[in-house]
Amino acid sequence: MTAESSYPHLFSPISLGNLRLKNRILMGSMHTGLEDSRDGMEKLATFYEERARGGVGLIVTGGFAPNKAGWLVPFSGKLTSKAEMRSHRALVSRVHAAGSPILLQILHAGRYAYHPFCVAPSPIKSPISKFTPWQMSDRTIRSTISDFARCAELAAEAGYDGVEIMASEGYLINEFMASYTNKRNDSWGGSAENRARFGLEIVREIRKRVGASFVVMFRLSLLDLVHGGSTAQEMINLGQGLADAGVTILNTGIGWHESRVPTIATQVPRAAFAWATRRLKDAVSIPVVAANRINTPEIAEELLRDKYADLVSMARPLLADPNFPAKAERGHSELINTCIGCNQGCLDLIFQRQRATCLVNPRACYETELKSLPAIHKKKIAVVGAGPAGLAFAVTAQARGHQVTLFDASNEIGGQFNLAKLIPGKKEFYETIRYYRHQIISSGVRLKLGHNVTSQELLVIGSGQPQTQGAVESGVGGFDEVVLATGTRPREVNIPGEDGPALVSYADILSGRVQAKSRVAIIGAGGIGFDVAQFLCEEKESNSQKNDFEHTPPIGVSSNSHLGFLKRWGVSTDSAVDGSLTAKEILKPVRKIFLLQRKSSKFGQGLGKTTGWIHRIDLHECGVEMLGGVEYLKRDRDGLHIMHRGQIRRLEVDQIVVCAGQKEEDHLATELKAGGISYHVIGGAAKAKELDARAAILEGTVLAQRI
Ligand code: FAD
Ligand code: NAP
Ligand code: SF4
Repeated sequence: MTAESSYPHLFSPISLGNLRLKNRILMGSMHTGLEDSRDGMEKLATFYEERARGGVGLIVTGGFAPNKAGWLVPFSGKLTSKAEMRSHRALVSRVHAAGSPILLQILHAGRYAYHPFCVAPSPIKSPISKFTPWQMSDRTIRSTISDFARCAELAAEAGYDGVEIMASEGYLINEFMASYTNKRNDSWGGSAENRARFGLEIVREIRKRVGASFVVMFRLSLLDLVHGGSTAQEMINLGQGLADAGVTILNTGIGWHESRVPTIATQVPRAAFAWATRRLKDAVSIPVVAANRINTPEIAEELLRDKYADLVSMARPLLADPNFPAKAERGHSELINTCIGCNQGCLDLIFQRQRATCLVNPRACYETELKSLPAIHKKKIAVVGAGPAGLAFAVTAQARGHQVTLFDASNEIGGQFNLAKLIPGKKEFYETIRYYRHQIISSGVRLKLGHNVTSQELLVIGSGQPQTQGAVESGVGGFDEVVLATGTRPREVNIPGEDGPALVSYADILSGRVQAKSRVAIIGAGGIGFDVAQFLCEEKESNSQKNDFEHTPPIGVSSNSHLGFLKRWGVSTDSAVDGSLTAKEILKPVRKIFLLQRKSSKFGQGLGKTTGWIHRIDLHECGVEMLGGVEYLKRDRDGLHIMHRGQIRRLEVDQIVVCAGQKEEDHLATELKAGGISYHVIGGAAKAKELDARAAILEGTVLAQRI
């Protein structure tokens, strides 16, 4: 299959003024954390250079502040002086040499800044920073406009092809536009026209200073998704004004950081907001970029073909796979390591002020540190367990030149991801399994499924004795190294009682081996307890096993899954509604669910910063009763008896699903150790506590790079 036949719209060139892009893939701005660190520019340059080599059409950097007040946190990246400008030059030239143009994003954090000298149009504190911003005077507003323009001038001097002005997501410029955060009654507030002035003046001033050919991209907020936010129509009017003021291209953002509508998490349907982008595109004459949950070339192609947008922005998908464009262009989308929208490796870390990376690609932002050099001594390696840890190890080691044989007791690869993918809103986990399946085929890893490896087989390998005929036939034998990636098993819990509600494991419920009943208590409110509650909240039919992801789910406001999502989260498609919010349509619960934990702390504390709130809202609205600080006493015909806040309470349930954590599946390790055989152990088999897929994939990758 050739590129042209697969994605003709995605790989058609487009001009932005004098700049010719070879395709329609824009790597959207992502703050990686490297912008803020002392030796970050070199690492950042390598990070972008790999994406440029991977065939992206245009790169936008993470945000750099135009002045100190605009810092996200003290001492974060800014571009305000010639000295700072010089540190960008090498980065820009390396990206250019690798084949991509690059824009610098100018970001003024406004009231989202986390420092005491933050500023905003009005002194209204945001829920995500503890600092109340200072109200900007007319003089400060004018000097800030000038700082934006100075920053753009410095970007031009550093060699950037243009700038992106960040005016969405609730940052400073967006704050000027919304009556929620702009209570001014001077010429910068009040009417929609006045509120839009700050952004327009910035564009005019930049254009004046950098000339006509420099690309000026403006990222506007299509849907604010906060009460008192702008209407979508106001944003369309602004888009038209921006085109007149000299903007080259409009990028789009959905929702403010404080919105309580998911906009990029995995449960958001792919391209769920493309309808709003098309509304803008239809109203302006300059190119428009679609963003948010576009993670496959198929979806991107569909958006371009059906004229939802002129370009597609993919930020996290290029974190997950720097070679996404090149693979798509060659017609090999099955080899793309797809972003699953989990946020665990990227945004969740950034919000904890750590360097971003990616759950499915641990090399992201660690390109200079995690290198896969060809192996000097090529070895035969047996890997037991084809979960995320074993898979990551197998394909990385094979790529280095080792000969890997991968065993799994199950008839499919993926380990626990085969359960995770069944959770509503986690269908993207299919993609990781698909990716590894194709990596195994293309790299030449020998795969032996349905083979439960025993310690006897492994002991033969390490004993130096001639192998038994059985071991040789089954494929276990003659290996130089053994890697155990056998994962975990569910922790069992014993609650006394014979004829009460049955205790069943999460694995049995999710796999369908045991049918869920109508009144269920869930023991344990960790990641899996939350997922199981979500699973049980929805009709069983919707969780039926599927063999593959639908690659081209329908897009646009008319699609049922998109409409259902918008209604569920109260997103209005009426362009005259403030903040594009309306009443939510709450689903009727299909069963009674209790979610229980022994500790008294907040529920879902261990869930990701950027996604935990979504799960809590979901379960709350589904009527799930969450009880903390409980003690499990007994079960009998009347249900489950617990001690809760000093009182004995009876929960009338007919089933108890145990999600009480996991234990290492490590008996092979114990037996090999006893037999004096050396081995490596990774993932859940090494340490079940606090293990997640990010740690498992990282461990597998790191071991494979040094073995
Ligand atoms: P596993 O995935 O457990 O794989 C171990 C493999 O070894 C299995 O395939 C097993 O069959 C095989 N095996 C074991 N013994 C043998 C043997 N003797 N011979 C041959 N094969 C053997 N993590 C996240 O980070 N984010 C999430 O959103 C998330 N959601 C989850 C949702 C659910 C419902 C579940 C159950 C888990 C979720 N996890 C999530 C956890 C994540 O899936 C695990 O941390 C990860 O799979 C652990 O990887 P692993 O390779 O160490 O082990
Ligand atoms: P977990 O997060 O450690 O949660 C285990 C739960 O079981 C806790 O709520 C704990 O609460 C309870 N528990 C522990 N021991 C118990 C016992 N002996 N009796 C009764 N209750 C007990 O583990 P998990 O839910 O099994 O998840 C496994 C891993 O997968 C985790 O590391 C998680 O990060 C990952 N995962 C992540 C996601 C995600 O969305 N990011 C989703 C699913 C899984 P109390 O001790 O208070 O009772
Ligand atoms: Fe995508 Fe998750 Fe990787 Fe972030 S960590 S880029 S959301 S797969």
